[in-house]
Amino acid sequence: MLLLAPSTVAAGQTDPLPAWPLCGRISASPPVGWTENQGCPAARFGNAAYSDQPLSSTYGPRPLYSGDNRYDFHRGVDIAAPLGTPVFAIADGLVQIAGDDPGYTDPLIKLRHFRPGQASCANVGCYYSLYLHVSNWVVPVGTTVSKGQLIGHTGASSASDFAHLHFEVRDAPASDTASAWSRDAVHPLRVLPYSVANNTSVIFGTVNTSNANATSAQVTISSNRYDLQSVEMRVFDANHVEIAQPGNTPDARGYYVKPPFFDMEASNFQYSHKDSTAFPWESYGIGGANECPYASEHGAAYDGNVHMDAQSPADFHQGLFNGVLVSTRKYWPSDVADYWLQLEFQALKGPAACIEATAVFVGAASQTGKWGACTPPPPSPITMTLSANNRGTAVTVRWSGATGAKVDVRRNGALLASPKNTGSYTDKLVVKGAAYTYKVCQAGSITTCSSESTITP
Ligand SMILES: [Zn+2]
Ligand SMILES: [Zn+2]
Repeated sequence: MLLLAPSTVAAGQTDPLPAWPLCGRISASPPVGWTENQGCPAARFGNAAYSDQPLSSTYGPRPLYSGDNRYDFHRGVDIAAPLGTPVFAIADGLVQIAGDDPGYTDPLIKLRHFRPGQASCANVGCYYSLYLHVSNWVVPVGTTVSKGQLIGHTGASSASDFAHLHFEVRDAPASDTASAWSRDAVHPLRVLPYSVANNTSVIFGTVNTSNANATSAQVTISSNRYDLQSVEMRVFDANHVEIAQPGNTPDARGYYVKPPFFDMEASNFQYSHKDSTAFPWESYGIGGANECPYASEHGAAYDGNVHMDAQSPADFHQGLFNGVLVSTRKYWPSDVADYWLQLEFQALKGPAACIEATAVFVGAASQTGKWGACTPPPPSPITMTLSANNRGTAVTVRWSGATGAKVDVRRNGALLASPKNTGSYTDKLVVKGAAYTYKVCQAGSITTCSSESTITP
C-alpha cells in the first residue's frame, strides 16, 4: 500500500522501453565494431536482460559510507563502474543540468522527460533522470537528447572516492512543471527494465507484546531483489480478528505517525526536509516558522536532509524514527550478496496473538512472514440434546456452541428449519412412536454440525 502517494509513476507514466544508464554495461563487453558514440543499441531498450546489475546499493535506507553513527536514505541506485564508463540517456529528454550545480557536490547530468504521449509537463507532470558523480558530460544544457544517446562518462563520488554512477528518478506532479525535489525521488526500478526471480525471506526476530499499546516486532527482510517497496504489518488477536492500527490513519496534517508500515517512497516523501515548496521547513525546529510535524522528535538542531537520516549512538547501522528502528547492512560488494533490511516496529497496537509482515516489491509477488498463532481457531463444536414431551407430540432440540444469527436444524438428513441461534427449537411435526434423527448445523453448512442423535417420542 502506498498510502502517501509521492508519485504518479506507474504503468504507462514513463517510457515503456527505457535503457539502463550504462546500457547493460555494454562497454565492459562491447559488440564487435561498436563505439560509444553509436549509443545504446535499440535492441537493449526495455530489455531486462541488459540491466546494469549488480548494483552496489539500491533505493532506501543504507549505512552511510563513512559509518559516522548514522545511515542515510539513498534516493537512487549506485552502479559501481570503472572511471570513464559511458553513460546513456534512459529515454528521450531535455538536458536541464550538465556539469556542476550549486545543489550538488559532484557534477551531474539531469534530464527532463515527458510522459508518453505528452508534449508538456502541465497536464500530467514530467519525470526526471539524474546521473551523479559524472567525470564529464557531452551534451549542453537546453539541448534535447534521444534515448540511448551518449551523454557523459562516470566518475567517482568526491566524498568517498567510490567509482560509480548514482542514478536517480524523480517524479513531479503537474503542479510542478519546472523541477522535481529530492522528496520526489522514486524507486528507479519502477522505471528501468528489471527482472529477477523472487527469492525472499521474511523472518521475525524479537517480539515483545508486554505493552499492548506499544507492541514491538522485529522483522528481517533478506532478498535477492533490489526493488523492495514496502514492509506492511498486520496484527491479529487470539480470535484472529485484525486489530486496527491507529498509525494507519493520517493526522490532521496528513502525516502517518508511527504507522504499521514502512514504505520506501512514502518515507522519502513524508520525511524529506527543506527542498520542497509544499513543505518548506526552512525553520523546522520547535516553534520555528515552518515547524516540522516531527520537530519534537529531532529538536531544533537537526540538520539532516531527510528524517530517515536517523542515527543511533550504539550502532551506525541503525536509526529510530517515527516508531520504527531501521537496521541496515552493506550487501555488495561485501561478502553479503543479498539485500538485507531489518525493521523493528515499536508502536503496534495489540494484544497480539499473531503478526504478519509482508514485503512488497515493485515488480514481484509479495512475501509474507508470520509470528505467533496465525491459524484461525476452529469453531467450537456444536453439542445437541433431544427431549420429547410426555404426550409424544413434540421434540425439543437444544444446542450450544453454534455461532451466527441462525442455525440449521436437520431431521432425517433433510433441512427441517433455520431458527434463530437461541439454543433451542421445538419440532411439533412429529408422530408418536416414530423415530427421528436430528443434528444442528451452522447456518448454510452440512459439515459444521453436532453429532446426530435419534429419539422416539
Ligand atoms: Zn548513490
Ligand atoms: Zn523535521
